[in-house]
Amino acid sequence: MAAMSQLSLSKRVIGAVALAIALPFAATACGGSGGGDSDKIVIGTKYDQPGLAMKNPNGTMSGFDVDVATYVAGELGYAPDKIQWKEAPSAQRENLIQNDQVKFIAATYSITDSRAEKVDFAGPYLITGQSLLVRSDSDDITGEASLENNKILCSVAGSTPAQKIKDKYPGVQLQQYDTYSACVEALKNGAVDAVTTDEVILAGYAAQSPGAFKIVGEPFSEERYGIGLKKGDSELRTKINDALKKMEDSGAWKEAFDKNLGPAGISTPQPPPIDK
Ligand code: GLU
Repeated sequence: MAAMSQLSLSKRVIGAVALAIALPFAATACGGSGGGDSDKIVIGTKYDQPGLAMKNPNGTMSGFDVDVATYVAGELGYAPDKIQWKEAPSAQRENLIQNDQVKFIAATYSITDSRAEKVDFAGPYLITGQSLLVRSDSDDITGEASLENNKILCSVAGSTPAQKIKDKYPGVQLQQYDTYSACVEALKNGAVDAVTTDEVILAGYAAQSPGAFKIVGEPFSEERYGIGLKKGDSELRTKINDALKKMEDSGAWKEAFDKNLGPAGISTPQPPPIDK
């Protein structure tokens, strides 16, 4: 017994010491709304979507969403070196915003009514639509309806394209992964027959592996990309909308689109009007 209480006492001491060491770090890691050191802004985005938002092997970030987020941060007073990026997988976006882990999210994030119950959206800053990616040698998937012929389809949990398949084609064998890059890997090695998400995202993957994949059929939804932010922060929403409008009007939007998505073969659309 004596040995026991001694053990638990020393455990408690160690615990307290560990806490004392950990606490200051915890405080820096989540200080202020939006996380990060107070002079930094934490922005959520994807890390694995070429053309849109990629964390490169050397640690730099690139893509259209990254450029849009960087422009907006600049208008909010944060130079690029004051940005702290945080990965925002599809299923975690509302949580990251609601828990103040990010100031805003630019991550191929469609504006929807159900999401708007939890977060606010600035934008839209891009309009695209859901489509299908298959291997180049595939000839029996020509559009959404052909998926019902016992095909295995991959999409991402918590995304609008996965939801659309569940609602509209309940007979399709849908596998939900955490990321689209995992879906594309599965497509490459034959574990799935097709990947579904927004056309711009699929085009980015197709461009990354020339000759391996093709997009089939016509887009079958409208996805309006917004910047997600804390519900009720109308001041921030107005500032982000002003920044997006300035980016569109100044030509910086077109420049960013051409640079990031031009190589994927998508012709530059008109920038969408920003909501009031
Ligand atoms: N735009 C869709 C969505 O927000 C699909 C892309 C994604 O999962 O990021 O769910």
